[in-house]
Amino acid sequence: MKKCENAKIPNTFGIDAKAKLFIEYYSLDELRQVLKEYKGERILHIGQGSNLLFTTDFNGVILHSGMARAKFLDDETVEAQNGLRLDDMIAQLTDMGYCGLEKLSLIPGEVGASAVQNVGAYGVEAKDVIERVYTIDVETLEERVFSNAECKFGYRDSAFKHELKGKYIVTSVVYKVKPGDATKTREEIIATRNGKLPKVGEVGSAGSFFMNPFVPKEQANALLAQYPDMPHFPSPQGVKIPAAWLIEQCGWKGKTLGGAQVWPKQPLVIVNTNNASAQDIIDLAAAVSKSVQEKFGIDIHPEVNYI
Ligand SMILES: Cc1cc2nc3c(=O)[nH]c(=O)nc-3n(C[C@H](O)[C@H](O)[C@H](O)COP(=O)(O)OP(=O)(O)OC[C@H]3O[C@@H](n4cnc5c(N)ncnc54)[C@H](O)[C@@H]3O)c2cc1C
Repeated sequence: MKKCENAKIPNTFGIDAKAKLFIEYYSLDELRQVLKEYKGERILHIGQGSNLLFTTDFNGVILHSGMARAKFLDDETVEAQNGLRLDDMIAQLTDMGYCGLEKLSLIPGEVGASAVQNVGAYGVEAKDVIERVYTIDVETLEERVFSNAECKFGYRDSAFKHELKGKYIVTSVVYKVKPGDATKTREEIIATRNGKLPKVGEVGSAGSFFMNPFVPKEQANALLAQYPDMPHFPSPQGVKIPAAWLIEQCGWKGKTLGGAQVWPKQPLVIVNTNNASAQDIIDLAAAVSKSVQEKFGIDIHPEVNYI
């Protein structure tokens, strides 16, 4: 394993934050060893840091997995280790003539977080393709396997963000795949995403900053009377209204605050254009949600995890 004190924490927002200790492990034995050694310390397991906003330095141990292999269990299931980049796996599956995950192409981040976050794009969510999730219990160090149902997946949500938060480390994920040519879909999705989303490594961001809100039918109808062009999608959870539309209507597209900006090509994204501090991003996000609440009476909530 690798240990580094007072280490810069990797994060796609490009926020300058340090961890008291950063540890990368390369086996389950090493992970168990670390958990035993640092029991009682504040511990955070991260992936690529592509959905995190470090609001301050982290006074504890940041863990990262260096395990990044995948193997077929049979013709319909692949088990991938937590530290593998999701898109690297999808690229490989596509090359090998397997489909199922291609709509998730180019979503930043690693396999472990794909289950925690229930990542999704273009109508597909990780929950649609995850069969089961292997974890290590942080207290007992024992393995526990969660079925898809036990993960309690929801919109960008899972039990790992709530009742299981901090209690289990996802070590590998079993995905369902099937033979099929996904090349064209993958290429189209990559082209679309590259056209509207900031590229990791070029522009700092954490992707969509806010989740799309769901409102009761009556509220949606009242808003539609006032804004007939408002996009809206009825669902069992209520009527989904794209947060990007709400933010754009409030005039935020391209606006800046300190070094942070509402991305002109996709107003759901906040970017770090000019050495933004975490506070710049927090202030901009707060100003955006305040104006959406004032204009539409809708609360929008961050998808990004504030640490
Ligand atoms: C440009 C851009 C575009 C994006 N587009 C999308 C999109 O289309 N759809 C979408 O859903 N998301 C999108 N995102 C968000 C991001 O890609 C996902 O949330 C992704 O799952 C984060 O993965 P990560 O490895 O970076 O996790 P991190 O951001 O490092 O961590 C996310 C959370 O998972 C926890 N975690 C990480 N690994 C483990 C583990 N092994 N065990 C337990 N907990 C763990 C962390 O503690 C944290 O709470 C985008 C982000 C960017 C920067």
